[in-house]
Amino acid sequence: MIDDENLLEMPGDWQRALCVVAHPDDLEYGCAAAIAAWTDEGKEVAYVLATRGEAGIDTLAPDVCGPLREQEQRDSAAVVGVDTVEFLDHRDGVIEYGLDLRRDIAAAIRRHRPELVITLNHRDTWGGGPGAPWNTPDHLAVGRATLDAAADAGNRWIFPELTEEQGLAPWNGVRWVAVAASSTPTHAADATPGLDRAIRSLLCHRAYIEALTDEDPEAYVRDFLTTATSRASTRFGDRPAVTFELFGR
Ligand SMILES: [Zn+2]
Repeated sequence: MIDDENLLEMPGDWQRALCVVAHPDDLEYGCAAAIAAWTDEGKEVAYVLATRGEAGIDTLAPDVCGPLREQEQRDSAAVVGVDTVEFLDHRDGVIEYGLDLRRDIAAAIRRHRPELVITLNHRDTWGGGPGAPWNTPDHLAVGRATLDAAADAGNRWIFPELTEEQGLAPWNGVRWVAVAASSTPTHAADATPGLDRAIRSLLCHRAYIEALTDEDPEAYVRDFLTTATSRASTRFGDRPAVTFELFGR
């Protein structure tokens, strides 16, 4: 259980958010419930994915899997009010933390000019304590590079080619980076208004989920998200919640 009494409410005084994650489905395992509520309020949210998740299904070759998962991602974004989904075309499973990744994410931040940037757990494990599952190198690379790129985007001298070649002016307006699925969350958003759409959004990744589990996909998805959003539920009087570790700038 999370020590949810101390979780602060996510800031609401922003208009544009950019979500940067490694794979199709990374945002649908919880975060989408908060995103649905934000787009309801008229906030603009865009997705940037480092890969198309082409190495994610054992029985499908990457050239078949990539386009399929791209379409599943676009469909799942639309369910929670997100129309802009971009892919950076790094290679699934072998994303390297480094200057190329930081530059690509900084460029995306300059294009979208968000106040809030969201990414996924960049730490070694999921959850703390003994036996916690090991995280994947792709999540570590993209999470860390996103935290770094929030600052890179505002500095005209770090990647001058972004201005010279792509005409992207520095954007120094990122106020927070929120890390979803962190084992040390600091903030939470009420998931009640968005939970049903989050479930439908994750269900859009049907090919992936059918390859992942023998369970009925609807039961698997409902179960997973209900459990995940109940971990910090006392924060909002026993209502489901999505948690974030918030870093300021
Ligand atoms: Zn992932």
